[in-house]
Parts: sequence; C-alpha cells; structure tokens
Amino acid sequence: MLAAGCATGSAPERAALAPPPTSARVLDVDVTLLPNHLDAFGGVSLRYCPVDGVMPRRLRPENRRALPFLVAATDEEGRALPIDDDGVRTRELAGCALLTVDVARLADTLDDKDLAQRVGDDVIATPDLWLWRPEPFAADARVRVRLERAGFDVAVPWVDVEGGRFVVGPQAFALKSDAAFGRFATEELDAGGARLALARLDDGRAPAALSRWLAQSAHAVATVHGAFPEPRLNVLVVPTHVARPIVVGFYSRGGGPTALFYVGDAAADLDDDDLEATGRWALTHELAHALLPPVKSEDAWLNEGIATWYQDLLARRTGMLPDDVAYWTELVRGLRTGRDRSDDDRLTVADASRRMHATGAYQHTYWAGVALALLAEVEAQRQGASVDDLVRALRRRFPVDDQARDARTLLHAIAEGRGAVAARALERAFDRNKDRPWPDVDLVLAELGVVVDGAGTVTLDERAPLAGIRRAITRPTVAGLAPLAARASEP
Ligand SMILES: [Zn+2]
Repeated sequence: MLAAGCATGSAPERAALAPPPTSARVLDVDVTLLPNHLDAFGGVSLRYCPVDGVMPRRLRPENRRALPFLVAATDEEGRALPIDDDGVRTRELAGCALLTVDVARLADTLDDKDLAQRVGDDVIATPDLWLWRPEPFAADARVRVRLERAGFDVAVPWVDVEGGRFVVGPQAFALKSDAAFGRFATEELDAGGARLALARLDDGRAPAALSRWLAQSAHAVATVHGAFPEPRLNVLVVPTHVARPIVVGFYSRGGGPTALFYVGDAAADLDDDDLEATGRWALTHELAHALLPPVKSEDAWLNEGIATWYQDLLARRTGMLPDDVAYWTELVRGLRTGRDRSDDDRLTVADASRRMHATGAYQHTYWAGVALALLAEVEAQRQGASVDDLVRALRRRFPVDDQARDARTLLHAIAEGRGAVAARALERAFDRNKDRPWPDVDLVLAELGVVVDGAGTVTLDERAPLAGIRRAITRPTVAGLAPLAARASEP
C-alpha cells in the first residue's frame, strides 16, 4: 500500500517504507499480589507466557535499581533461570517464566518519591521497577497484564484493555508513571467528561472536601478543550502530618495519566473558598498538565508555565476565585515571587528552565513561564486569538502522550489558524526573554490596567488602553462541555 507521493521515491526509500516483518511479540503476564508476613502487601509474582511461543532474550526492569529486589526467577518446573547484570535470561526457555519481586522492600530501601515509597501499609511504585519488560521491546510489541488482586487493592495507570488484559507497550516506560498497591478505598468521580478514580492511601485520612475540590478542578480544566483531556485519571492521595489540606502534587503519564497529591490534616477553621490557604490551586495545577502533550524537562518553562498560568485563571473563570481583582492579585504575587527568585539564583530564563531540577529554580521557571504566557496572551488577543487556541491546537496535533517533545518542536507544529497566532507570540516572547533573568511584564500589566501600589495591593483601571483584553482573558468560557469525541474527530 504505497501512497501516490511515495511512488516517485528511489528504491532504497521505498524499501525503508515497506512494513517490517511481523515480529511483534506479545507476552501475557499474570501479576499476582503477595502478602508479607504481617498480611500487608509485600510484593508481586509475575508469570510471563509468550503468545507466539517465543520468549524474548531477557526479562529486565526498565530501572536497573530494581535488580536487587528480584526474589526468584524460575521456569514452570521450579528450575532457576540464569540471571545476569541486566535481568533474567529467557532466550532458551520453552514455556513460561515466573518472577517474584519484593516491591515493599524495594520501596522501603529506595524511598524515593520519584520511584517507590511506602505509605502506611500501602506502597506506591512505578512499573519501571516491578513490571519487568521483555528485551528487546519493539515499538509494536506489547505485554498484556492481568492482575490477580488476591484481596488487595491496586491502582495502575493503564487504560487500554484487550481480552480482559491491560495492554502495555514500550511507550508506557518512556514517561514516568505510578501504581499503588495495598488496602485502600477507591472512589469513582465523574467530572468534566472524565472518570477519576480517587485512591485514598494509608488510613484514608484526607480533607473531607477533597472529592468536591477535585471535581471542581477537573471541570475547570475541561472548559479549555470542552472536556477533560483524558477519559480516565487515577488520583493517588498520600496523607501527611501537615496543616495545609493540599500540600503538593505531581502528574505522570506513562501508559496512562496519574495525579499524585500529598494532603495534610486540614485545620478546622479553614475557609473552604480560600484557594491559597487550602492549597487547592495545586489540584487545578496538576490537572491542568493534561492540557498539553508531554514536554521535555529542559523546556519546563512551557509545561510548568502553562499549568501555572491556568491554575488561577481557570479558578477565576469558573468562579473559584470570586472576582478579577482576586485573580490579578494572585498573578501579581506569583510574578513577584518568580522575579525575586531570579534575583537570588541569577540564572537566565532559559538556564533556569534547563537546569530547574539541578538548581531548584522552580519558582523562577514556573513564573517566568507565566510571564511569557501573559505576554503571548496579550499579543494573541490583539490579533483575535488566545493561548487557549494554542493549547487546543497542540492537543489536537499530539493527542497521545507517547513521548516528550521539546518546546520548539511542539510550537513549530502549529502552523495554521488562531493557534498559530498564539504559537508565534509565545515563541517571540521566549526568544526575546530567554537570555534575560526575568521577562519584563510591568509595561503590559500597566496597559492592561493592573495597577499595583507600594503595598502590593491591586486595583483595576477600566480606562487603561488594554482593559478590554484584560476582561477577555478572565471571561468565563461560556461554551458547554462538548463530548470528548469532538476533540478526536477534528483534524
Ligand atoms: Zn506542574
């Protein structure tokens, strides 16, 4: 099946376009949860059986740090399989392989929030550590996972199901992802066209209003695309002894989306409507990460900037922030924090973004990204477009979270329509400011009529030249929530 355009290509080019031999391997994996000696969750046994009868060269963890926590690797007769520096050698094996991984000890030993951690008797661990994968793992190969819960509760990120099994391809390991094991209550919430599976880990202690707050945030995020960008979202909730109800969050995407939140015991007299005191902005921030496709970490200014741009803007548009003064007060406060951090770290915007994790330049990067979004939004609004159009266009162009791309690749890919107007505006804002410590937004704030006095108090000037654009930025999205399929059907 050659497209007309390919027929003129040279023979080597045509050969390169020919479909590869059908070598797609399918491994069925039965994962059984195992108790420890106290009957809490301890680990997993994994039974790997090749559908076409051919085992891969090896079974290995995506992350080598899991290697010491392999308890056993045998064939079906109980004979030990050879183990080398990379994993379990299975090339010569006829039949199935049985592996046992001590996930709880792995979590206790690594104790790394990015990889694995214990939460009371429950355990959070990325599949990179416990779902050992075939090697090689071709792009079109897959493992099909069936979970034997054995009385435990499980939260895994995978969403594709085939023959009653979760389908996991190599792209599931290309991006960070989280899973949880143990005994916990899971609550299903429908909001913004998505189904949220909310797992309250440990003793379930979490703010009572968390479900409502999450639903509000999912609804707020859904107003950008017309529906929440993902049909399903796992939400893992980790209780901590901190007074603030929502402490911090993370969003991961490998094989399917998971939002992870650390929550505290709420102070009894907290004002439910105080986004800052409750930390509820963090819920909207993490869920807003779903608005964009994955971005390479060195371009954190784009994905963190856009998520931070929307965390308060969507709160205002959907009424979680009571009025425009409250919104612009939050924005001005955040921008001042970012500028102060840039004074401290003396990094340029580009360097802060590129080295954010190494230098801790989080607030610098996040709020510089917001400043760039503000500059781009005003320029786009002058031309009848909005950052909203760019975000919609990016999700249409890259609907699947298969790999992280750099900011230039993402923005260059939007070449037409109002999304392109905003893409060019954002590229210009970045290029003009990337080699400076901080994007200068004082002039544009003044033009918008956002007036800040010496004490930091914000008032809004309706006679300012761009007051109309300022009102347009925070105007509630009036369109009803379209079904998710509407997004996929657009070109
Ligand atoms: Zn973020």
